[in-house]
Amino acid sequence: MEVNIYNLRGSDVGRTVTITGGVKKVEVPILKIQNAAFKCIRCGSIIKELQEGKKLCTPFACYKEQGGCGKSQASTKFQLLEKESKFIDTQKIEIEQSSIEIHSPRIIAILTNELVGNVSSETESMYKFEGVIRVGKDKASSRIFPFYLEVTNVAPFSMPEPTIDIDSITPSLIHKRQSIIEIIKKLSHEHAEGITIEDIMTHLKQQGVERDYIEKLIVNLKRDGKIYERKNGTMSSC
Ligand SMILES: [Zn+2]
Repeated sequence: MEVNIYNLRGSDVGRTVTITGGVKKVEVPILKIQNAAFKCIRCGSIIKELQEGKKLCTPFACYKEQGGCGKSQASTKFQLLEKESKFIDTQKIEIEQSSIEIHSPRIIAILTNELVGNVSSETESMYKFEGVIRVGKDKASSRIFPFYLEVTNVAPFSMPEPTIDIDSITPSLIHKRQSIIEIIKKLSHEHAEGITIEDIMTHLKQQGVERDYIEKLIVNLKRDGKIYERKNGTMSSC
């Protein structure tokens, strides 16, 4: 089910959702040990220990259930076996609901294995993420949002073309499109720091233009290189 990051609630934890958004930040992929294999130096048995935290956990004992000698951690030593251990590639990214809106809600997402390296944070690149909502465990993710998305699938997403077909291009539509450019030009002369989508809305409301329509046109104008968005989310004409 498609969800908006802003609407995520505690009841969504554990749910499989789809989030369409831009990528705000991409961290360097890291290798994590998932199931560590150790050799007991007393009996030579290979003992597996699941790893969940950041520190490597050695077995508490040479587990009898795994065919070991039963000696405790204190009375034997364990040697990590790299080849027998299972590793996992992970990558932390940050998804943003919209690259148009300022202060758009974000969520941390974790990519694993074959999904690692599949997204870029280039401006305006959008993706459809499928995954499960989890509760953030580390401080880094809860700082921004208490939830994170455990990504199971990711695919590039392109904004549907604004629904303006040739037949529907009337002088008034051309006029509206032109007036947005004009308004942006005019406002950006008045405001050196750039103008926000809200400023544009305010000016166009008087002309009775729908917000949806304005948003589509802005995407359209950005794609055509008529206007550009600055880092801080404001817009300028080219
Ligand atoms: Zn042992």
